[in-house]
Amino acid sequence: MSARLLDLPPGDWPGRFEALGAAAYQGASAAHWVLRRGVTDWDSMSDLSAALRRRLAAEEPLRTAQVERRSGASDGALKLLLRYPDGASAEAVGMPGTRGRTVCISTQVGCPVRCSFCASGLEGLERNLTAGEILEQVLVLRQEQGEFHRLVVMGMGDAGFNLDATLAALDALIAPAGGGFSARRITVSTVAPAGALARIAAWGRPVTLALSVHAPDDALRHELVPGVRRRRLEETLEEADRLFAAAGREYTVEYVLLRGVNDAPRQAQALAHLLQGRRCHVNLIPYNPVAGLDYHRPERAAQDAFAEALRRASLSVTLRRSLGGAVDAACGQLRRRALTLS
Ligand code: SF4
Repeated sequence: MSARLLDLPPGDWPGRFEALGAAAYQGASAAHWVLRRGVTDWDSMSDLSAALRRRLAAEEPLRTAQVERRSGASDGALKLLLRYPDGASAEAVGMPGTRGRTVCISTQVGCPVRCSFCASGLEGLERNLTAGEILEQVLVLRQEQGEFHRLVVMGMGDAGFNLDATLAALDALIAPAGGGFSARRITVSTVAPAGALARIAAWGRPVTLALSVHAPDDALRHELVPGVRRRRLEETLEEADRLFAAAGREYTVEYVLLRGVNDAPRQAQALAHLLQGRRCHVNLIPYNPVAGLDYHRPERAAQDAFAEALRRASLSVTLRRSLGGAVDAACGQLRRRALTLS
């Protein structure tokens, strides 16, 4: 079976159209309709002949995933559970932001990293998503909520463990012949398994790297983030310094604050020490509780104190406003609920 259109780079769409007996320019036009304008209904593409539209609708469906669940919140966040034809499901979230909407997409069904505090990791990895399935999340969210300003690859799964498909999907969004979306408005999050940072750096698009750290020392990180037990924090940060910061690309350190686990003043100091002098920004994320897991969000005062200790060490810090808590926004929660109910 040949790959679906959404799995192909936009530059290959003209060739696929020629193979269907259409003109190459119609393939380029279709890529523009789909990836730039977000249209997924062939019938709306008025510059294609009626016969070609009928054939494309039968042979090249653009939407294959069903929206199985929708949860919205009063803050405007919307979380979708998408069900793919093989039964696998993944989550995609749209959130309001100060400069426009942010969409957050998944790269895997389940997650091989198995972070002990995360709903996505509880059942491990079911399978990788294809480039087309990753792109389809963006198209569906755009249809539900309109244009977006930022794209973050921080949903279910870890991009570093599915780089081929993730980078292909992002390339289709960025390409001038595709979505034309600015790479500078994309953030790719990963725990950085061996080789991942080098690949993202070599890929060369100016996306922001978000490094999931979550602990100030190896012992605790290996407990919380078992998928990178063979990696030392120091070595991971040095790699990020060399591949990103040295090339003028500040990276973000993601740190989920867990009450009584990684939020003590001495741990803030240890993290400050670890990050001292590095060209990074720290993003503190107060934990969104997951049913069945014995982790809790620190009190507001403890969150503030942790952030303040880092700022006193001259680090740039954001304490993230939590969006979507009311819609099961902790990654993997919606899918997990569906798995539990099914
Ligand atoms: S926090 Fe991210 S990397 Fe860790 S298990 Fe969840 S989805 Fe995977």
